[in-house]
Amino acid sequence: MTEKFDAIVVGAGPAGVTAGYVMANNNVDVVIIERGEFPGSKNVIGGVLYIKTLNDLIPGFWKEAPLERKVVQHSYCLMGRNEHILVSHKRAIESEPPNGYTILRSKFDRWYAKKAQDAGATLITKTNVTELLSHTGKISGIRTDRGDLSANIVIVAEGANTMLCEKAGLITKPRRDQMAIAVKEIVSLPPDRIEERFGLREGDGAAIQYIGAPFEGLVGFGFLYTNRESLSVGFGAIISTMMKEQIRPYDLMERFKEEPSVERLLLDGVVKEYQAHMIPEAGYGGMPKLFSDGVLVAGDSAMLANPVTAEGADLAVLSGRMAGEVAVEAHRKRDYTSKALAGYQQLLLNSFAVKDMKKQSGLLQYIEENAEIMSAYPEALNAVLGEWFKVDGSTRSEKIKRIRSIVVTKRKLTKILKDVYVLGRKLM
Ligand SMILES: Cc1cc2nc3c(=O)[nH]c(=O)nc-3n(C[C@H](O)[C@H](O)[C@H](O)COP(=O)(O)OP(=O)(O)OC[C@H]3O[C@@H](n4cnc5c(N)ncnc54)[C@H](O)[C@@H]3O)c2cc1C
Repeated sequence: MTEKFDAIVVGAGPAGVTAGYVMANNNVDVVIIERGEFPGSKNVIGGVLYIKTLNDLIPGFWKEAPLERKVVQHSYCLMGRNEHILVSHKRAIESEPPNGYTILRSKFDRWYAKKAQDAGATLITKTNVTELLSHTGKISGIRTDRGDLSANIVIVAEGANTMLCEKAGLITKPRRDQMAIAVKEIVSLPPDRIEERFGLREGDGAAIQYIGAPFEGLVGFGFLYTNRESLSVGFGAIISTMMKEQIRPYDLMERFKEEPSVERLLLDGVVKEYQAHMIPEAGYGGMPKLFSDGVLVAGDSAMLANPVTAEGADLAVLSGRMAGEVAVEAHRKRDYTSKALAGYQQLLLNSFAVKDMKKQSGLLQYIEENAEIMSAYPEALNAVLGEWFKVDGSTRSEKIKRIRSIVVTKRKLTKILKDVYVLGRKLM
């Protein structure tokens, strides 16, 4: 071992940087190791950073951070075939602090890592951690492609690709039905065009999530977010369903972008970047061992992502903060045993994030087994509204009769009742 720190953090995403920031602020000698050229160079978000968890840690950070647009408009787009329903919510005056901002990781992560450095953390980039080292059963350091480092505690925040956790026996490799592949393009467009097209005031932003026809047979959804001078457009879908439907990510992206409701928003835009990344969707039951002697696991590596609310980055901050605080306490007591670190798991279990994940247990599996519901309901709702608004000389009672038959051709009544029961129980 060449150098020893109090603590090592693997990964300079929001989970790792938060843990490093918290520890450095409490006089823990911490090093953050990142394999990318700089923090954010290898990271992907759709996406909206919901700011509560970070604002709790660094009040008012959103006034100085390099954020894109304040999201004042959230919409769900239910896509049928050549028709869609847009359900939107827009605030005329956004509360303070705002709910969320779109971000580009290459800018945001760099800024955030600098915060941790300013607090006293050491950041080492372009360094790949290849394994966790142990001594008499306790994690005691890391091996990197540039040498070994030792520490009293290691916080693993390696993201969705849990190679280190797998090697250390903290998690079994997630299955293909527990991981989503997400693909995203950044499409540049002048700010005034974005504002005109989305009906936004200067600096305000919109977020749209798409479910329905283009994703038929898949468990997944599309998204479109407004940045300052670009749009982020893409989708995420469970890998096993992509394989079953034999569809390639690139083809699905093209299919999605060709939908009239998406195409008109992207018109005249120029694709600047193409990114692909995994999203862990194993849920509560697939969470790894969160702590062991000398080690804690945070962020995506801990499977902390919620596909229902499209949150992940804020949960990474939440878990990074908890891991950092537990590590500070362990440092104060000079006790890094799993007994001393167990409080981390308890903090997470009591958090809104894991409570929601626990309640949603089995939800994804149900949807995977009934993947047709992801397109059947949007299509049925489109057909129902199409029928309702059509003026063709029929009476309302005749329309209601037709609407009833549309609904049951899309999904049997017994199945609808079961869906309502299962989804209601998991989500309410
Ligand atoms: C397309 C897409 C859209 C998303 N949209 C949203 C959204 O709208 N809102 C939201 O809240 N979340 C969203 N997410 C999820 C969010 O991006 C993640 O939950 C979040 O980035 C997790 O943070 P993290 O710090 O755990 O992991 P990451 O951000 O993945 O950071 C892990 C870091 O560890 C580094 N690393 C990994 N292995 C090693 C190693 N062996 N050695 C050294 N360094 C290593 C990586 O380079 C990386 O920088 C989205 C994700 C995707 C892919």
